[in-house]
Amino acid sequence: MLDIQKIRAEFPILSQTVNGKPLVYFDNGATSQKPQIVIDAIAKYYQEINANIHRGVHTLSQLATDAYEISRGKVQHHINAKFAHEVLFTSGTTHGINLVTNGFASILKPGDEVIVSSLEHHSNIVPWQMLCEKTGAVLRVIPINEDGELIMEAYESLLSEKTKVVTVNHISNALGIINPIKYIIEKAHAVGAAVLIDGAQAVPHLKPDVQDLDCDFYAFSGHKMCGPTGTGILYGKEAWLNKLPPYQGGGEMIKEVTFEKTTYADLPHKFEAGTPNIAGGIVLGTAIDYLNTVGFENIQKQEEELLAHATKSLLEIEGLKIYGTGKNKASVVSFNIDGIHPYDIGSIIDKLGIAVRTGHHCAQPIMNFFCIPGTIRASFSFYNTKEEIDLMVEAVKKAKTMLS
Ligand SMILES: *Cc1c(COP(=O)(O)O)cnc(C)c1O
Repeated sequence: MLDIQKIRAEFPILSQTVNGKPLVYFDNGATSQKPQIVIDAIAKYYQEINANIHRGVHTLSQLATDAYEISRGKVQHHINAKFAHEVLFTSGTTHGINLVTNGFASILKPGDEVIVSSLEHHSNIVPWQMLCEKTGAVLRVIPINEDGELIMEAYESLLSEKTKVVTVNHISNALGIINPIKYIIEKAHAVGAAVLIDGAQAVPHLKPDVQDLDCDFYAFSGHKMCGPTGTGILYGKEAWLNKLPPYQGGGEMIKEVTFEKTTYADLPHKFEAGTPNIAGGIVLGTAIDYLNTVGFENIQKQEEELLAHATKSLLEIEGLKIYGTGKNKASVVSFNIDGIHPYDIGSIIDKLGIAVRTGHHCAQPIMNFFCIPGTIRASFSFYNTKEEIDLMVEAVKKAKTMLS
């Protein structure tokens, strides 16, 4: 079992008070908090080895380059990519997805089809819409059922030889539903389509194995997994990354530049134009080490207990409805109380020190499906406790009394 109090002591922000109350941080789906070891590693980089990478022969530049490439290797092993050069540093999930959609602009033809799901974050909808507008490809959408699960029969009936790309999130940010991505990938490959998985919500809870999943692309952000903001990873199969054109032109991504013709650098540099977030990339490796030290089995066990406790306690409140009632779920509870706007509850419980997200969670199509303006979303991390959940439940009850 995890020693939660010891773990909490590693996150300095958790011992703060907010509005005079102990902070209860349940907005982990938006961004996670950072342990001291991650905070220290950022300072250490600037204090000791700050220099630009891949450019200089001087010692600091070599130290920074080595640290950056060691971090890439850590990510490679963490997600079980075949090659380190299949791991691209990005600024986050959004950047990774746009890198791929930009590449597909030169591949898709009018009438080709792209399949997305109704459970997607706007980051994994809008870039594909832009791509379809540019190319004349058609966007198809996998519907969900009342439990917030993707309807697999509907997905399979959308697939055809016209399908060129399928994209779906591993775990839904708005509802916490875990999607059957291995099955989705297998079915897409059977019609020759490429698959991008949006792993932003999955990587804080589990260790994806990109070779076992056999996905073509897997995008995620560092800041939701205890790493710094402005960091992320796009995994892509070597063959696809060689096929796609570069996303941005600039320094670092070229072999040779003349005004007649420029040849591009080999992977991964072809997709890493300009000076990246060097400190962030290095420290993302520190965050991954940290999570592995805590252990993903321990993380999942703790989060499952929190989810069960929150679900049970919240449902005791009359008029409370949880959205996303499918069986396979991560530690997210999205709910509303009959007749009360989610924002009003969020504002009142904030005064009591409780941080939840209210609104559409960048997933308006889901809210439209349930005919609601939004939900209150409590998303738990392994450093949260049942006592914190009890505080939230009490606060929600108080808010309900005040508002009804
Ligand atoms: C947070 C999130 C994103 C966007 O991540 P950024 O870090 O803002 O780029 C995309 N998809 C899902 C499922 C998310 O939860």
